[in-house]
Amino acid sequence: VPAKNIRNFSIIAHIDHGKSTLADTLISRTGTVADRDMEAQLLDSMDIERERGITIKLNSARMNYTARNGETYVLNLIDTPGHVDFSYEVSRSLAACEGALLVVDASQGVEAQTVANVYLALENDLEIIPVLNKIDLPGAEPERVCREIEDVLGLDTSQAVQASAKANIGMEDILEQIVELVPPPPDTADQPLRALIFDSYFDSYRGVVCVFRVVDGTISVGDQVKLMNTGAPATVDEVGIMRPNKVPVTTLSAGEVGYFIGNIKSVADARVGDTITSAKKPAKEPLEGYAEATPMVYCGLFPTDSDRYDDLREALGKLQINDAALCYEPEQSSAMGFGFRCGFLGLLHMEIVQERLEREYNLDLITTAPSVVYKVYMNDAEQTCVDCANPASLPDAGKRDRIEEPYVNLELITPADYVGSLMELSTQRRGEFIDMTYLSEGRTCLKYEIPLGEVVTDFFDELKSRSKGYASMEYSFLEYRKNDMVRLDVMINGEPAEPLACIVHKDKAYAMGRGLVDKLKELIPRQMFRIPIQAAIGAKIIASTSISAMRKDVLAKCYGGDISRKKKLLKKQAAGKKRMKQFGKVEVPQEAFMAVLKVD
Ligand code: GDP
Ligand code: MG
Repeated sequence: VPAKNIRNFSIIAHIDHGKSTLADTLISRTGTVADRDMEAQLLDSMDIERERGITIKLNSARMNYTARNGETYVLNLIDTPGHVDFSYEVSRSLAACEGALLVVDASQGVEAQTVANVYLALENDLEIIPVLNKIDLPGAEPERVCREIEDVLGLDTSQAVQASAKANIGMEDILEQIVELVPPPPDTADQPLRALIFDSYFDSYRGVVCVFRVVDGTISVGDQVKLMNTGAPATVDEVGIMRPNKVPVTTLSAGEVGYFIGNIKSVADARVGDTITSAKKPAKEPLEGYAEATPMVYCGLFPTDSDRYDDLREALGKLQINDAALCYEPEQSSAMGFGFRCGFLGLLHMEIVQERLEREYNLDLITTAPSVVYKVYMNDAEQTCVDCANPASLPDAGKRDRIEEPYVNLELITPADYVGSLMELSTQRRGEFIDMTYLSEGRTCLKYEIPLGEVVTDFFDELKSRSKGYASMEYSFLEYRKNDMVRLDVMINGEPAEPLACIVHKDKAYAMGRGLVDKLKELIPRQMFRIPIQAAIGAKIIASTSISAMRKDVLAKCYGGDISRKKKLLKKQAAGKKRMKQFGKVEVPQEAFMAVLKVD
């Protein structure tokens, strides 16, 4: 295909504004997949994604479209993940395009994710085509939403398409605008090969599949290639296009989008953002923008049944083959036994990995509360800096000079009614107010600088409940800042419960200690003896309470009753026990490990 007849574009949107539906409708409208083969929401293929209605893994679809001008075009739709945890992947997908459809729900308006995605698209110099979706809804207000797009994002909406992905309205206008407005890729097929990987995944039958955009040169079956940043070599065993199922071809040239399969072991060797070049005639420079994944959030993962430690290690190894951003190392604690400390891009990434371990590998896990990475400067002559991702391993106060914690830029978009309550929430979480702007009729954007550690708790849940679901948020890493942080230790029945320790700001430590012991009292079941629960900073106890002893044996209730009832009760108890860990003589349920997130 000549480059002038190629258009590469993405769809950017806030969650639920109709990105997946639009992708599906465009694919079926262009006859790329016969209707009977359309699986609902083709591009979101992982189970967890479909259940949660979010796109995690990127993919792409190549469509043919004969335009009103009579020419046939190849339109490559490049999908992007829809969550802040994966913003690096989003930026690499956008870097593979010349244009983006900006989908905004005409009954809602601009949301936090809309803004964040538009910034990423502008950074990549994309032509942005506004699409007002869900125009079929009686509550659609296209004029108001257009004004919002103009005022907030500074985009021209005079040509914005009014569409309904669900009711199949406006699809041809969208396709025509893609052809007319998105620039064709430059024709640089005669230069040395450079192809940008914007997705890579592990297929259990085929090995690693790299999905890429050819930027310069050509790539053909049989080529010897190498990845410029990881240095991994590969032989191109198969090259092809996505329709969206894989269809092999012999060659792909500058401007085209496709996949290749070679002898690559793990996705860590073919990371998103890396550049494929020829082994024989390599390009001088890799494409810009490659970055290593940096885990932002850590937690401990321990098998409930300590015999399954090896199974957990094997499962993590398998997941890592398909997830270059996941990292883990063994962790041992007297209370928890053997497990792993794992690093994730964000909370969603963490939840996805936990869920997959439990679902696909049938593991029962105890997970400790998430922690961010603190920079701890020691008071030795060199002021050595250590990264601390585990509160239990924070160096003693006497050895520390200072602690720095990560801050993020937080952006909230909310109906005006909830501004007060959300400002209160952000202030409670140590946010520093930066700015407030009015978007349109009663919608407001709030900006804060706030510690990441305060956001990775229940912030999102609080935001949603305080705004009845109407507010949205986005954040991005800002910098490390020095703060007065202390470690809060917890003792259960006189024994330190390391996995319950947390790092908090000194000013909040007393309230947190009080809240934490009270919460634990609620969550830890009574036993036959009294259990003291204490919170301490260093040697100083700052809060304490106790759980009184249970008086009666549960079985006593069934005294004289029939045996099957007794058995049922024992079985129920056994099931309840599954997610427990033993601290000395005390059994602690999974919920208690998350207590720190639930303290109000
Ligand atoms: P995504 O999160 O942006 O991928 O959004 P989805 O495509 O999953 O759509 C979210 C919800 O909006 C689904 O229930 C869709 O059926 C619905 N939806 C999408 N497009 C339209 C539309 O044009 N009109 C109406 N009424 N509903 C739509
Ligand atoms: Mg979707």
